[in-house]
Amino acid sequence: MKIGFIGLGNMGGPMAANLVRAGHEVSGFDLAAPMPEGVKAAASAAQAAAGAEVVITMLPNGAILRAVADQVIPAMAAGAVLCDCSTVDVDSARAVADAAAAAGLGALDAPVSGGVGGATAGTLTFMVGGSGAAFASVRPLFEVMGQKAVHCGGPGAGQAAKICNNMILGVTMIATCEAFALADKLGLDRAKMFDVVSTSSGYSWSMNAYCPAPGVGPQSPADNGYKPGFAAELMLKDLRLSQQAADSADADTPMGALAAALYARFVEEEEGKGMDFSAMLPRFEKRGRG
Ligand code: NAD
Repeated sequence: MKIGFIGLGNMGGPMAANLVRAGHEVSGFDLAAPMPEGVKAAASAAQAAAGAEVVITMLPNGAILRAVADQVIPAMAAGAVLCDCSTVDVDSARAVADAAAAAGLGALDAPVSGGVGGATAGTLTFMVGGSGAAFASVRPLFEVMGQKAVHCGGPGAGQAAKICNNMILGVTMIATCEAFALADKLGLDRAKMFDVVSTSSGYSWSMNAYCPAPGVGPQSPADNGYKPGFAAELMLKDLRLSQQAADSADADTPMGALAAALYARFVEEEEGKGMDFSAMLPRFEKRGRG
């Protein structure tokens, strides 16, 4: 397929490289990042998009996505599909889908889970919003870049799934960390705590697969000095997107709001910036009730 790829950073770079390795013709544009091997450098986003059957974007946020969409939509051929894989707000995803539809293009919001490791290995999970026809035409590319693609519904449904998932993740990580800190103060051994909770009703991905306590459970960022992994500031970004969506949909999300406030404090006022999001555990360890 002829593909335009805009945003070749930590995630987009290896995703584009996998498309090239699978035999696709990729024309890329980024303001700063180097071109991955085999990706043809375009002089602008519009040039990367011209003549492409699918244009993929992997950008930092919704405002940048809207600006890039304004540049690429007029350059795209009728019937082509604009597929955004960034994590952005649901309103931006829907606005871009509307603009694409008005220009006779297909559009998908297809955020990913799996991080840089998954992007490199081609094992991402895509959660996708948009029409069935657009999903079917981009599916072969999802199969190259990932191991699973779920068509979640119409425009915005992929972003909705992503932020709801990550709201659960933020809340369960905080709950797991505060429970470990309480167990410490009650004199409970961490390995015993893991053994019980990981096979009892308090289990979750945060406890079982990404245990925030060093030396306990499977290998995780806790075993590597809390080097990310998934950085606390990226968790904060996703929690804020969930609160923005909850505001615009008038949904009551008290735990999500509390998780967003706690990660904001951790990243902006304490030592959380640059740490993995599971470093909430050493934060709680140091604190008392006051
Ligand atoms: P990144 O900052 O490494 O990459 C973004 C790239 O976009 C940069 O190279 C930047 O130069 C480029 N860019 C910015 N504005 C541009 C413009 N106007 N035109 C062209 N290029 C432009 O970020 P990343 O880690 O690759 O993340 C990208 C997206 O994926 C984000 O939305 C992020 O939330 C999401 N995401 C990241 C991870 C992760 O673990 N890193 C996991 C899941 C989802």
